[in-house]
Amino acid sequence: MTMRELNVFAELMLHDRLLKAIDKLGFTQPTPVQQAALPEALNGHDLIVGAETGSGKTLAFVVPMLQHFLDAPAPNTGTRGLILTPTRELAEQVCQAVKDMAAYTRIGVMTVCGGTGFKEQAAEMRKNPEILVATPGRLAEHLERQTLDFDDLEFLVLDEADRMLDMGFRDEVMAIINVCRAERQSMVFSATLTHRGVRALLPEVLNEPKELILNTPQSSQEQIRQQIILADDDKHKERLVEWLLAHETYDKAIIFTNTRDKAQWLAKSLQRQNRRSGVLHGEMSQDERKHVMELMRSGKINILVATDVAARGLDIEGLDLVVNFDMARKGDEHLHRVGRTGRQEREGLAICLIAHNEWNLMASIERYLRLEFERRTIKGVEGSYKGPKKLKASGKAAGSKKKKTDSKGSKKTAANKVRSRDRKQVGKRRSEPAGNSAAPKGPSLGDGSMPMMKRKPKPQAD
Ligand code: AMP
Repeated sequence: MTMRELNVFAELMLHDRLLKAIDKLGFTQPTPVQQAALPEALNGHDLIVGAETGSGKTLAFVVPMLQHFLDAPAPNTGTRGLILTPTRELAEQVCQAVKDMAAYTRIGVMTVCGGTGFKEQAAEMRKNPEILVATPGRLAEHLERQTLDFDDLEFLVLDEADRMLDMGFRDEVMAIINVCRAERQSMVFSATLTHRGVRALLPEVLNEPKELILNTPQSSQEQIRQQIILADDDKHKERLVEWLLAHETYDKAIIFTNTRDKAQWLAKSLQRQNRRSGVLHGEMSQDERKHVMELMRSGKINILVATDVAARGLDIEGLDLVVNFDMARKGDEHLHRVGRTGRQEREGLAICLIAHNEWNLMASIERYLRLEFERRTIKGVEGSYKGPKKLKASGKAAGSKKKKTDSKGSKKTAANKVRSRDRKQVGKRRSEPAGNSAAPKGPSLGDGSMPMMKRKPKPQAD
């Protein structure tokens, strides 16, 4: 750390009441994202920050917002600060962080999310809390019905902007931004700054922003061991989960499935095994979700089966095991899942259970993350699937596509298919040989075939 870097909150010249709150929370040292963002934000700059949940990013926008409101009291205005988050759970979490930080002030905050009665919500908003933490859908509804306005808004935050857009909230977010007062300070947080939707949105939200990148997909996982275990099918995966939960060392674990039905099925199976477990998915009511989260936070249960939507942005202390019962469908989703563990200098373990139809997805996620998951087998619970016999250079399974035969019964191989195209001189551009779409675009041998590709060695079980 250089002399110019911050090492204590006190050096930020924060208001005494905020320092007292920080002290009560037991925070002595700003996290890297706080070190980078707080001085800039306290100076009034707009920011775009690349940081994940778990990095301490919430305080990086809550502290400057509260400091600003304490510096310039404005008792008779409407909403002064607005924080948009992708999910209700994250909104609740952020709202709690605001309450904790504003504990010694009179600044009020409320969440505006779906799942709560519209009228009750509107009534509470009339009490005029300075800060709203909202999900875009419900907030846009309030704007439509003219239950609130943002003419006095001084501070706008888009938290987890990439997810908000991935969840399809672009129109709502735009509608909200369009009615916010133009003279304001704004901050955008996103796990990935290369997200095209986020990039396109920035000029609409920020004014001469500073860009702070605190993590890359690769660096955010340094503390996490990532493994794969091959599996035959869901029943086999169920046995693997049973073994892992019985033999791994962990405080709390989260198991991801890709569908609600599977989450429920697995949760029931765990309950039959007398595991202290719960389930969290998008179709549950707000109260049900809250209840499960409380059980998990308090440690009454220590295993959560969840779908992606439900688990977005959750910050659960002591979570050190992530099991992907189903492989995430995209690299970013995988990152968000494994990012639930390995937080705040803790070591985490993330294990993906891979059936044959998930191999290629797993391989493409490895490429995206530029790492190779550790291959692991568990004695006594091995299945019959041993991974693809041959691999392409990309790490995907080779020759997985069925070969078609032509009318004469001879096999239509990639090479002779291209040759017949050449003979007939159909079209000017030569198509790539089938099944080699991920092959390097090396020189052609002149007869339409590709040079022999280097194969990756078959993965070894450890
Ligand atoms: P966040 O990324 O904002 O969700 O924060 C992740 C966790 O880090 C939360 O439980 C915070 O309470 C905690 N946290 C935030 N700032 C600090 C800090 N400076 N020192 C220790 N823990 C922190």
